[in-house]
Amino acid sequence: MCIKMKWLLVLALFVAVWAQEESEEEGLTLAEPCDAESCQLPDCRCSSTNIPGGLAARDVPQFVLVTFDDGVNVININTYRNDLYNRLNTNGCPAGTTFFINHEYTDYQIVNELYNRGYEIALHSLSHQTPQTYWAEATYDDMKLEFGDQRIQMSHFANIPYDEIKGIRIPFLQMTGNASFQVMKDFGLTYDCTWPTINQLDPGLWPYTLDYESTQECTVPPCPTASIPGVWTLPMVSWLDLNGAACAMVDSCFAVPPLNDEDAWFNFIVTNFERHYLGNRSPFGFYVHEWYVAERINPAVNRAFVRFLDMINNMQDVFMVNAADVIDWVKDPVPVDEYKQKPCKNIQQTTCPAANCGPLTSDHNIWSSYYMSICNVCPSSYPWLGNPLGQ
Ligand SMILES: [Zn+2]
Repeated sequence: MCIKMKWLLVLALFVAVWAQEESEEEGLTLAEPCDAESCQLPDCRCSSTNIPGGLAARDVPQFVLVTFDDGVNVININTYRNDLYNRLNTNGCPAGTTFFINHEYTDYQIVNELYNRGYEIALHSLSHQTPQTYWAEATYDDMKLEFGDQRIQMSHFANIPYDEIKGIRIPFLQMTGNASFQVMKDFGLTYDCTWPTINQLDPGLWPYTLDYESTQECTVPPCPTASIPGVWTLPMVSWLDLNGAACAMVDSCFAVPPLNDEDAWFNFIVTNFERHYLGNRSPFGFYVHEWYVAERINPAVNRAFVRFLDMINNMQDVFMVNAADVIDWVKDPVPVDEYKQKPCKNIQQTTCPAANCGPLTSDHNIWSSYYMSICNVCPSSYPWLGNPLGQ
């Protein structure tokens, strides 16, 4: 090899190493179209409406995900106690529900109660602040304060195991590009349930990882563009309202039955459910805020909701579960007969050394005093961004 070529080779090597360091520094590699050969369960799945494990639809457990967003407190706990507690699926295991909780107006003693009942405690940001553009423009560091820190905060004040907190939903369903997913990866969070799909609702999109480029349309940009291996997206497969318009949250549907018509509401819910159950059995989401199904506000909608839960809790191949349980099944997709034989999961019970704290001063709002119900020692100031434990 001549000297000139050697130098060229050295130069090429140098450029290659430099380029790699550049991308490592950014932490980002542009996602490529999914390669189904190399993207295999349990840790990788291409975005697709294909049923995991190649199962036939009739062999798939139909999962129903009921989720509630925002603060958990004395105002909404009665709905949860009355409508959710003591429900069983036909396999004898307690029926699940996932709570996407933000910090403000949250009573952590009640969060502890929900956790000990087997419900999933997930994250909905520390600040839940407006305007929505804050989230659209949020950086990695912003999302670290909102979700990485909130996980520590939730675990601390509700006294629940850090590892049991696995999922996030960003306020206003506003995506933050790669930022939220990078934070999830770096902090070991499992799944995101923020991203609605309208184009892939019949058949519905199944959960997938972000190792490769997503085929999901970007409903609330910016959406992720990078390869973020091992992080799961649990798509919010939209409902269709009475005019056929898509809605990700039940309370965002526009053309709905009269709020005082229980039967019409029951039929509305069942119609949306059947699109999944009689289709590819992708998880059916009942994503809502508590007030909308609350007996004190919409008693007929409440009765329809309870009737629907009673119905599915009596079906042999339908299971009301926590969102994290769906990801577990997708990683290891077993037919419904086998799924029913599995023992119920163990809940690692925790105590709540209750403390009622306040008035607490706050840096983010010096005009207010705050009160907190927690399971731990009172903080010295009101916890907020950058100071999640109020030290
Ligand atoms: Zn919210």
